[in-house]
Amino acid sequence: MRLVFIGAPGAGKGTQAKRLAAEKGYPIVATGDLLRAAIAEQTPLGQQARAYIQRGELVPDPLVNQLVAERIATLESFILDGYPRNLTQAQMLETILPQPLSAVVYFAISEDALIARLGGRRICPQCGAVFHITANPSTAGDRCDHCGATLITREDDQPDTIRKRFSVYREQTAPLVDYYRQRGLLRTVNADAPPDTVYQQLLSVLCEST
Ligand code: AMP
Repeated sequence: MRLVFIGAPGAGKGTQAKRLAAEKGYPIVATGDLLRAAIAEQTPLGQQARAYIQRGELVPDPLVNQLVAERIATLESFILDGYPRNLTQAQMLETILPQPLSAVVYFAISEDALIARLGGRRICPQCGAVFHITANPSTAGDRCDHCGATLITREDDQPDTIRKRFSVYREQTAPLVDYYRQRGLLRTVNADAPPDTVYQQLLSVLCEST
């Protein structure tokens, strides 16, 4: 399966991608995670990307396109989480894919639900696990249940940056919903629902795509 997950920040794409990957073995290519890792490692890419991410803006297309092209060149199956984020990237993806996409899953959700979700999100800087202070708290309080590292709020989950990320999503990423609908690839799940329900929906829309 060659899958793209699209949806607003906080719609649950990453959580669902991890669950699907654990069950089916599809590798995840999550551009946000790759960029955050590059920042932590202080690579040239990380140094260039950091200011854009802090402002809630998109990192320039050439940097992200190259990152994705390198990752998916040899993959038969993958889940692309957070890419493409605009039409230029969607067109680029078509040129780098050895085989066409199987489906594009759209995580549809209301903005009110998103603001509540992002404000309470805590991530593990060491293993990448994602928690939520009310919906999915770590049993070890402010420590990661998996590796014990101290949980943090993502730099770009601050209220002003969240607002900026939404406006970037509305202007640049939301048009991809129609783009992929017109190509017959779009499968929609109701991402307002609890994670288990979303996962069941995900499995059923993917069944229709095989
Ligand atoms: P995410 O973890 O997917 O919410 O991404 C966090 C941030 O990384 C975004 O707000 C962007 O600044 C940057 N980013 C992630 N994916 C992309 C992409 N495909 N194109 C440009 N910037 C991206």
